[in-house]
Formats: sequence, C-alpha cells, structure tokens
Amino acid sequence: MSESMDIFKPELLAGKTVFVTGGASGIGLGIVDRFAAAGANLVIASRRQEKCEIVAKDLRKKYGIKTLGLGLDVRESAKVNEAFKKAHTEMGGPHILINNAAGNFYWPAEKMRDKLWHAVINIDLNGTFYCSRAAFKYMKEAGEGCIISTTMTLHKNGWPGMAHATAAKAGIDALTQTLALEWARYNIRVNAVAPGPILTEGVAEAFKAGGNFEEFIQTIPLGRQGKVEEIGNMMVFLASPAATWITGAIFTVDGGEGLSPRRASITPERLEKLIAARKENRGS
Ligand code: NAP
Repeated sequence: MSESMDIFKPELLAGKTVFVTGGASGIGLGIVDRFAAAGANLVIASRRQEKCEIVAKDLRKKYGIKTLGLGLDVRESAKVNEAFKKAHTEMGGPHILINNAAGNFYWPAEKMRDKLWHAVINIDLNGTFYCSRAAFKYMKEAGEGCIISTTMTLHKNGWPGMAHATAAKAGIDALTQTLALEWARYNIRVNAVAPGPILTEGVAEAFKAGGNFEEFIQTIPLGRQGKVEEIGNMMVFLASPAATWITGAIFTVDGGEGLSPRRASITPERLEKLIAARKENRGS
C-alpha cells in the first residue's frame, strides 16, 4: 500500500461499524483496508467464511480495530437478515453498509438460460436490495446511516456478453436513487461508486479467454488501471462527515475510461472462447 493512500485521519470513523459484502477479495480488500485505516470497525461478509475471517484477523492486527468475518450468501434474504442481526449484536450498527458483492461471466444473451440470468441478478441486484433493507432497520433506529453500492460504468452504453450484469448494475443505480429519496427523511444517505477496470481475479479470468489487459489499459485516458484503495478512499469520503449533503449520487472512479471512445469490444468469436473456457473450468 502506498502511503499516498493515507489521506484520512486515523480516527475519522472511530466507533462506526461498516458492513462490507464481498470484502475479502479484489476491490473489497481495498475498501475494507481504507475503512480500517480511518478507524472504523468492520464486518466482512461473503460466501467463503474462512477468507473473511482471515481478512478480519489481519485488519484487527494491523489497525487495532474490532472486526468480524461472516459467511453469507447475499442471495438468501432470511440469511441476510440473520447476518445483520448477528453483526448488530456483536459489533453495533451497522452505521455504514457497502454493497460490493457481485458475480458475472460473459455469456451471449441469445444463449442465456434462466439459471444463468438469475445467477447474476440474484447476487448483484437482489443481494444489494436484501442487504440495504436489512441494514435500514438498524440505521432507522439509530437515526442515521450511509449505504454505498459498487456499480460500474459499462451498462451505460451496453456491454456485449454481459446482459445480466449490465441489467443488474442499471438496477442498482436506480435503486440507489430511489432509496436515497425514500430514506432521506431518516437521515440515511444512499450513494454508489462506479469503478473502472482493475485487474482482480474475476477480470483476469475474463481476459484469459482472449484479449490483452495490458493493451486494453492503454485505451484508458489516464493510462493505467485503478488501484483498489482508490475505490476504498472514495467510499470513505462518501461515508465521512464531509459528505453529509451527498445522497442519490453515483461517482465514477475510472481514469476516464467511461468517456473513452475505444471501449473494449467483445466480438462473437471471443464470446465463444469465453463460453468454452467457462465450461472447461466447471468440467461441464
Ligand atoms: P471479485 O474479487 O470477484 O469480488 C466479488 C466478491 O463478491 C467476492 O469477494 C465474492 O466472495 C463476493 N460474492 C460473490 N457472490 C456472492 C454471494 N452470493 N454472496 C456474498 N458474496 C458474494 O471482483 P471485484 O472485481 O473485486 O468486484 C468487486 C465489485 O466491483 C463488484 O461489485 C464488481 O461488479 C465491481 N466492479 C469491478 C470492476 C473491476 O474492473 N474489477 C469494475 C467495475 C465494477 P465469495 O466468493 O467469498 O462469496
């Protein structure tokens, strides 16, 4: 971690509990690290409980904060409610929720079976709603709250092979604005952050079946991929007292990629390769 990422006071969010879904990998790791550096206590939740517990332990050691690692599938609404109850009992809050969990894979719309469609909609869109609704209960009681979801930019102009993910993220943008309006009266702010390309495990997997990430990066106006901490710092800012008049907003953090005319084009040939690679990975 470069020291230039330490832009907030270490006690900025002391006493606040942040619940982060998908916080034990990729961009989620940058998010939890930046909130921990700002003194917040953290609940880290995703399906791989052991991974969440390891990250929780590391952060506890590094920053001297309270943490909790939870196994949670955000598609299961009853389990989501239970997880928030447990987090509230053990950690207080949550005062801040980060909806970061997502899943996606390339698949052409014409061959999309119901199961594949639902797989992504259920995690990205339904999971975001279930967690927001569960957090709302505690935020309303507390008289304040902050919800931030990770969206993307690619759905704004369409993204071949990603009908499910683009529809889900467009839904998250709409949900962000609607919840911001509904919950403003409870002093609960709802915003989203749209990252540009960052080479996480999921992105690396997608590029394996064709395409060159290094070449793609050259098309980004600022000439490089993002750092996970850059997404985390934007979220800490949005959760901080400096942002108490910001709600219903979607912030792009992408080196200008979303404005670039040379967006990644996914050809039908590459889509076929991607499907073959996915089938091989799953042994089907
Ligand atoms: P990632 O490492 O694959 O992160 C996805 C996370 O979601 C994982 O920690 C995963 O953990 C969790 N997750 C998946 N299904 C879940 C479920 N059913 N319940 C609970 N947790 C679940 O990918 P990433 O690139 O960091 O993505 C993080 C966020 O950034 C996503 O919302 C993504 O859409 C967004 N984003 C990424 C980029 C990029 O270039 N990387 C660009 C734009 C937007 P488990 O496997 O343990 O469940």
